[in-house]
Amino acid sequence: MPAKKEGFNRVLDGLKKRQLQHDFKLERAAETYEPIQNIGSGAFGIVCEAVETSSNDKVAIKKVAHASATPTLARRTLREIRVLRYIDHPNIVTLRDIFRTQGPLGIDVFLVMDLMQNNLHHIIYGNEEPLDEYYINKFLGQLLRGLEYLHVASIAHRDLKPSNLLVNQDGTLRIADFGMAKFTDNSSRKHDDEEHCYYMTQHVATLPYRAPELLFVLPEHSTAVDMWAVGCIFGEMVIRNELLPGRSVPGQIKILLTVLGHPPQHVIDEIRCERTRKLIQDYGTKADGEWDDIMHCKARGADQIVRGNCDTIDFVKQLFQYDATKRINIQDALRHPYIQRVTPQMAAQKKCPFRVKRDMMHVEDLSHQDLIKLMTQDVRSAENTYNEMHSGGSFWSAGDFQSERSYEIQKAKYETSSHTNGLDGQHELGYVSGGHQWRIPSYCAA
Ligand code: AMP
Repeated sequence: MPAKKEGFNRVLDGLKKRQLQHDFKLERAAETYEPIQNIGSGAFGIVCEAVETSSNDKVAIKKVAHASATPTLARRTLREIRVLRYIDHPNIVTLRDIFRTQGPLGIDVFLVMDLMQNNLHHIIYGNEEPLDEYYINKFLGQLLRGLEYLHVASIAHRDLKPSNLLVNQDGTLRIADFGMAKFTDNSSRKHDDEEHCYYMTQHVATLPYRAPELLFVLPEHSTAVDMWAVGCIFGEMVIRNELLPGRSVPGQIKILLTVLGHPPQHVIDEIRCERTRKLIQDYGTKADGEWDDIMHCKARGADQIVRGNCDTIDFVKQLFQYDATKRINIQDALRHPYIQRVTPQMAAQKKCPFRVKRDMMHVEDLSHQDLIKLMTQDVRSAENTYNEMHSGGSFWSAGDFQSERSYEIQKAKYETSSHTNGLDGQHELGYVSGGHQWRIPSYCAA
């Protein structure tokens, strides 16, 4: 019997290896990276563990297959590249390299990142025991720090959930998967008439973490959507269950109404989709749930974090405001007595480089052709090594800003805006991150 099992396992291993070779055909980049095993998949990519042969470092390679084939895929890929390539933050995944190959259905893009050992979803559900309060607070603190860095640059992640929060054995948490990330400027908040019905927004943020403004398709989409998700993730760490576990848009709306009560009338008045408004109105009014009870009735042993704890309850309440303008923002969250109490004093952090914000500004308005053009410019071909590209000079499009002067003015404004902690010159020239020299050189510098 064991011999049979061994034989079966060998066949399985062989199949897995062939699948890996098929999925990760790296062309000339195979001189640099050796895929080891598949480790994950998301809605738009598959991820493998690999070794960088020159350094023997373990890395994760995410492949976005035929990234150029549709506007959605191209936009997702460009967003991820543009958020990550200049970012250097302990709580955001580190991008080391990007390259592309020509696949049968268009460009395949490969993002090489530092390898992380696990994700928060597995940590929450992988143990019999609830998460220790110490770790809940540690993860929450790191999530907020990573978000502060993004939100100060007006970048919203828009798909925060436990499986997008990568965690190492030492408890370091890093935010990953920026395919939905968006530059959210007040002036660009517009209501798209064609997007007024919720059935058209299925692709925006995973349902149990989806903020009401996305669910109800309200005009205001901002960094506040991430704060709602923070509440959902915090609740999930405490109760080891999704806090608002909807499986369809109407189902999710009903769960919100059941758990959180009725939205304020001014929020309902803003909903343009007749079906959504009717669904809410027909559901009847229900008093707000008490957070003490919501957490307690669902909790399995970890409810002491919330029960009777005024600071915690106030923090949760402020995260779950239907009205996005009333929801606590990242700076106030970091200053909240609960966070002050449970996370160690945090030093001021470096500001997200202005060029990240600049790069993200126009991604939402680009046509399919422009997306492909910029993606091709941003990403080196696997046939060109890092050194070849480096000597090739800059071919980064200057089109994002009308003039050099306009760029300088905007940058100066950003640097002197509130919450500035000063830009580190290293960020502007490429930098050393996690002990590795950044691999995207001057060809994508402005
Ligand atoms: P994504 O498409 O970015 O959501 O990634 C899908 C899954 O792959 C994640 O949920 C992780 O489990 C895994 N993954 C992504 N990036 C990494 C990484 N840098 N290190 C380890 N695992 C990763």
